[in-house]
Amino acid sequence: MGAVVEVTRARKERIATFIEPLRVEPGTVVDLGRDFDPGFRSDVVRKKDGRELLQTGIELLAEYQAKLAAEQSHGVLVCLQSLDAGGKDGTIRHVLSGVNPQGVRVNSFKVPSAAELDHDYLWRYARRLPARGEIGIFNRSHYEEVLVVRVHPEALARQKLPSGKKDSNFWDRRFREINDWERYLVDNGIRVVKLFLNLSKEEQRIRFLKRIDVPERNWKFSAADARERRRWDDYQVAFSRMLSATSTEHAPWYVIPADHKWFARICAGAVLAQTLIEIDPRYPRVDEDAVRELGVARQELLAAAPDGAAPDPFAAAHDGHRHGRSSGNGRGSRSKRAAATTV
Ligand code: AMP
Ligand code: MG
Repeated sequence: MGAVVEVTRARKERIATFIEPLRVEPGTVVDLGRDFDPGFRSDVVRKKDGRELLQTGIELLAEYQAKLAAEQSHGVLVCLQSLDAGGKDGTIRHVLSGVNPQGVRVNSFKVPSAAELDHDYLWRYARRLPARGEIGIFNRSHYEEVLVVRVHPEALARQKLPSGKKDSNFWDRRFREINDWERYLVDNGIRVVKLFLNLSKEEQRIRFLKRIDVPERNWKFSAADARERRRWDDYQVAFSRMLSATSTEHAPWYVIPADHKWFARICAGAVLAQTLIEIDPRYPRVDEDAVRELGVARQELLAAAPDGAAPDPFAAAHDGHRHGRSSGNGRGSRSKRAAATTV
């Protein structure tokens, strides 16, 4: 593990203030085009500082993730949604670049298979939920069920729903089901973080052209992408409805301005960091019996030092290092560690 990144109260407040404008207030009616600017960048962050900021955020995430994994009581589910070329893959790659791969699972959701269509629509997502101690990333998520499926009635037709179930309340019911499912997860220790990468139509045009013009990027573009772009307005409506209906107190949406990739990554990292700060995972406290056993094992190891070797090179190098392991889980004991860094 690298240096300990101190999370001071001031730093927590800075993160909270930074992400506040991105949060969709539960109960508000969102009109994406009117309410959120894909080109937004905060005045306080310039691009050259952005790299450093992201790096700090990455270190912070790594440290929290190690504690999350050790504590084994909370899991974190990150749902990433965006229009095509919104930058989901790059966001995952950059934001999670510092964390232990053993603690993270990324799942990408494509067109459902025949076997998946034989089940209720949440089934395939439920099967890939993170365990306690894990961060699970959904690259596309159950929200496709109110986005692509809403824009394309033929996708809904493939879901084999009983005919009486497709009444006029259908989409409201689906929103409610999703909210209920997420509440259930949150109540059971699985936090749900929802990020929507909000891209402008012009920036998508530019990114698509790049995928066409640069041979190494051709694989990233398909005729389907061009087809979906023609439905831009329908998607804007579907996203607006989704944000209005499913930003809840237990699992709010964050709309990330995505036209500037570097800024989008800082935002995504900050929202994830905020979630982990709120969970505040701790290394488990070792009970007295275990501490006694550690003492016995330590004596045995010291006695086994070869002639001329330091009995405990680690303690020697960490001059004055606590021997009795009396500081337990470290609550309140971090204050003198590495200097605070800013967000
Ligand atoms: P990509 O993420 O670019 O590999 O594309 C995956 C494709 O799967 C996208 O076109 C999505 O719209 C589509 N997709 C994902 N989930 C669903 C779903 N539940 N129903 C229909 N299509 C979906
Ligand atoms: Mg694609």
